[in-house]
This record gives sequence, structure tokens and C-alpha cells, in this order.
Amino acid sequence: MKVFEEMDSYGHEMIVFARDEKVGLKTIIAVHDTTLGPAGGGTRFWNYATEEEALYDVLRLSRGMSLKNAGARLKLGGGKAVIIGDPKKLKSREFFHAYGRIVQSLGGKYYTAEDVNTNTTDINHMHETTQYVMGTPEISGNPSPFTARGVYKAMKAGAKALYGSDNLAGKTVAVMGLGSVGHFIAEYVHKEGARLKVFDINKDAMNRAVTEFGAVAVGADEILTTQCDIFSPCALGAVLNVNNVKNLKCMMICGCANNVLVDAATGDALTKLGILYCPDYIVNAGGIINCEAEIVDPVYSADAVNKKVDLIYDTTLNIIKLAKDKKISTAAAADEYAMGIILKARK
Ligand code: NAD
Repeated sequence: MKVFEEMDSYGHEMIVFARDEKVGLKTIIAVHDTTLGPAGGGTRFWNYATEEEALYDVLRLSRGMSLKNAGARLKLGGGKAVIIGDPKKLKSREFFHAYGRIVQSLGGKYYTAEDVNTNTTDINHMHETTQYVMGTPEISGNPSPFTARGVYKAMKAGAKALYGSDNLAGKTVAVMGLGSVGHFIAEYVHKEGARLKVFDINKDAMNRAVTEFGAVAVGADEILTTQCDIFSPCALGAVLNVNNVKNLKCMMICGCANNVLVDAATGDALTKLGILYCPDYIVNAGGIINCEAEIVDPVYSADAVNKKVDLIYDTTLNIIKLAKDKKISTAAAADEYAMGIILKARK
């Protein structure tokens, strides 16, 4: 891979390759854009098959963080880090001390948080050697309730745009994935009087939603095609592509999962089908909004975070309008909206 060519095409400012032989640490930290503030984004621990794969992942993810942070109007640029290796074999307190020292050496250009295969214990260990962490359990705590709140607000905004009212009572919401975020989303819409259809590969999670919210459990092969008003993907990314969107029986898609659409063509296909897609990184920004508060606000306050998260409602409506005015998909409109904020700040 020609690294500088890749940096040019994605627009990265800096990529750091670092290692610590003693603990077997290999990491790539990508700072995509710091126009709006220090680069913020989690550290992913993954046993990548090749170094190219790791580099590609960190380039793509860090650019995504620039858009996500800008879209949420945060004082954060975009960054991400990957640690290459088997988390089960490598993880230890000393390992994350070594990683923390590398983050610290960047002098605050990059703030890390948890991501796939890194958790709050690891964050605490990093925090022992670097001040540049977000999402410490002692301060901002679990981000999932904030993420769920943001998705719920976006869903209401989508309903407002579609039906003229943001009331979800009587609507049927199909939730795929009832984990840390999906469960709270189901709770929000249930409390508002929506009907639920749910699927999770974890039977306990699914049964809990059936018991607590009167949800109807559907099968793995049904969740994408079941009749509903709103489909809420809250498990994996890349669940929708140009082929399977034709089978959807919903009016709106709004969930917490990252990278829901396989590609830009899927966004265009949804527009053609008349299905409103609420863009993933706009609606699921509650967690990073909570993280940002920890490092930007003079005193962390969950109430203040909730107020910022609630702005996702207006942002979603703005993006839906932009898409309509420009006759583009909402996914493309989200990119244009977020890039616009960065470009304006640059000027
Ligand atoms: P989680 O691991 O707590 O929950 C995921 C749930 O999805 C689990 O219950 C799991 O059993 C289920 N699942 C896995 N594969 C499935 C499948 N094929 N079909 C149906 N269910 C399946 O994760 P989470 O924190 O709730 O995050 C969910 C998604 O939201 C992820 O894509 C994550 O990247 C994204 N996200 C989370 C946050 C956050 O604050 N936690 C913030 C932004 C984005």
C-alpha cells in the first residue's frame, strides 16, 4: 500500500506506527482532521490478517470519526487507532500502559476511547499512563444510554418528516439487536406506545424484550422483511445492500449500528424506494457526545449531555431537508453536511 497516496485520497493529517517490543504491542494511530479540535475516536483491538488490512481499517474509521464528530457539532476532530493482534493473548495492564505512553507522546493531538475489543477496564489502564482518554467509567460512564436517546430522537425526527407528527404511538418498530443500545431504544419506543418486533441471536436478550415490552419475536430470516413502520438495525454493520433493500417493508430506517449501508449505491436505492434512511453516524452520535463532554466541559454533567444529544433531532431534520433540496440520498446529505462544517471552520 502506498501510504502517502492513501493519506492524500482520504485527507489524513498524520499516521503514527508504533510498537513496544516488551509487551508485543503494534499499533497504528490515524489522525484524520483536527480542524475542529483534537482527534477523537476509539482504539480497536483486532487480529488483522495483514498490516494493509489494519491500515485500511484505521484510515476509513478515522475519516468516519471526522464526519461523525463534525455532524454532532463537537469540538473534536477525527481519529482512530487500531492495535494489531489477538486481544485474548495480549491484553494486560502493562500492555495498555505501553499503549497509553504512545498516546501520551502525541501531546493531546489524539484522544482515545473504547471500541471493539477494548473496554472500560482497558481505558482505566491506559489512563494510568496518559491523560488523553475519553469515556472513563468514573466520569462519563456507559455511553449506551446516550446513544439510545440520540437514536430515539432521530427516529422521532424521521417520523415528523414522514408523517407530519413525531409521535411514535401506534407505529411498529422492528429492532435487530437488543444489546447495550438496542434494548434502551426498544424501551424508549415502547414507553411512547409503539409496537415492537424484535430479533437477536441471543435468545435471552430477545426474551427480555418480549417480557418487558410485549415485543413480538421474529426469526433471523424475517427481521429484514417483516412488515413495520421503522426498521432499527442495532447489531452489526453492512446489513443493507442494493439487493436486500428491495425486500424491506418499512418506511424508515433508524438504528444505532455503524456503517449500516454497504455502499453509497444502497443509499441511492433507498431514496428511489421512498424509504427514509436516518444516517447512522448522525443518529448514533450520543456516545461520542458524552465522551466529548468529559474533556471539553468544565464540569461533566449528564443533563448537559442529554441536551446536546437531543439536538440530534434537529440535525436529522436538517439532513432530511438537505437531501430533499439537493435530490440526493440522506447518506450523501449527511456527508455534505458534516464536511461543510469542517470546511467552514477551516476558512
Ligand atoms: P452490544 O454488543 O451490546 O449489542 C449487540 C447485540 O446485537 C447483541 O445483543 C448481539 O447478540 C446482537 N447481535 C449480534 N449479531 C446479531 C445478528 N446477526 N442479528 C441480530 N442480533 C445480533 O453492542 P451495542 O453497544 O449495543 O452496539 C450495537 C451497535 O451500535 C454496534 O454496531 C456498535 O458499533 C454501534 N454503536 C454503539 C454505540 C454505543 O454507545 N454502545 C455507539 C455508536 C454505535
